[in-house]
Amino acid sequence: VLHNQVQELRGNIRVFCRVRPPSAKESLDVADIHYPDKDRECSAIELIGPSNESALGTAMGTVSTKTHSFGFDRVFSPAATNADVFDEISQLVQSALDGYNVCIFCYGQTGSGKTFTMSSDDGMIRRAVDQIFSTAEGLQDRGWTYKLEGQFLEIYNETIYDLLVESDEFDKKKLDIRQDIKEGKISVPGLSSLRLQSRTDVADVLRRAAKNRTVAATKANERSSRSHSVFILSLHGTNESTGEERHGTLNLIDLAGSERLAHSQSKDERLRETVAINKSLSALREVITAIGTKDRTHIPYRNSKLTYLLQYSLGGNSKTLMFVNISPVKQHIPETVNSLRFATVVN
Ligand code: ADP
Ligand code: MG
Repeated sequence: VLHNQVQELRGNIRVFCRVRPPSAKESLDVADIHYPDKDRECSAIELIGPSNESALGTAMGTVSTKTHSFGFDRVFSPAATNADVFDEISQLVQSALDGYNVCIFCYGQTGSGKTFTMSSDDGMIRRAVDQIFSTAEGLQDRGWTYKLEGQFLEIYNETIYDLLVESDEFDKKKLDIRQDIKEGKISVPGLSSLRLQSRTDVADVLRRAAKNRTVAATKANERSSRSHSVFILSLHGTNESTGEERHGTLNLIDLAGSERLAHSQSKDERLRETVAINKSLSALREVITAIGTKDRTHIPYRNSKLTYLLQYSLGGNSKTLMFVNISPVKQHIPETVNSLRFATVVN
């Protein structure tokens, strides 16, 4: 199915909110989250903070006892499974086969469920690639052959690392971005690119990336939550009977934790990480906001590695979805409010 409808301005940016369930330990500290509409497709979540101000703590001075109300395109309650969530993005994923560039992000504080949503065994990456394999198989009847390639990288302190190399090479191989303006393409010279021919290939890719992340995490404390990981699926379809070609890209991004650290806690390394994360998350917000405005003459892609890397998949004829992952825990409300506010800005 080709989607040739003219997209409305902003029509191609959507924001979904997902509240994770509390862990067994946390279940007593769950915030009073109230769903105006019990239907999981309700269009708004009302986050009602506890009335006792001191219970909130004063992290970064963002304390709120007011009732905040934020609208989203979809809201997933703690009861929603990854299968439920995928149902709502499957069409978007499908459009990469039609030649669209698609970006799906997970934004939120550390521990809010980004990795569970995106990169866990049954998360969006796995499900998206599975679906693309099935659909591509079905399209063979109509003459289409698809070639799929996967790349997986990490952006840590504004440096790019290849998540698919052998683990003793990870950390040594620092990569950079090259732009080919004439071709309208971005490349990362030296980045591994794996041909994906079956579902087992995808499982391998996920396993290899997870291993590199774990190894890196033991070296630099909690590195995986301080870095962005970007899975890039390139799709190239050719139709032998009509001669048509399609190039699509599906980018699935597990963003660095959005939490703000109190400066007193920041050692040199921590501070450097925090500066890098703030820089790239605000660059992302600025780019997404600029895409949604009428004046698209200047979109500041170059302010961070992440937006520079994704510039041809953000804006133009591309589709963007942001998941805002939030925690149900009372103590996290200041960060939760920050996350929801970020989402409102880009929405
Ligand atoms: P983040 O990547 O944002 O730091 P994680 O995805 O690692 O957060 O989630 C933190 C913890 O919560 C993990 O143990 C994860 O398995 C669990 N978790 C997150 N979201 C869900 C969910 N929707 N259902 C069940 N467990 C979840
Ligand atoms: Mg994570």
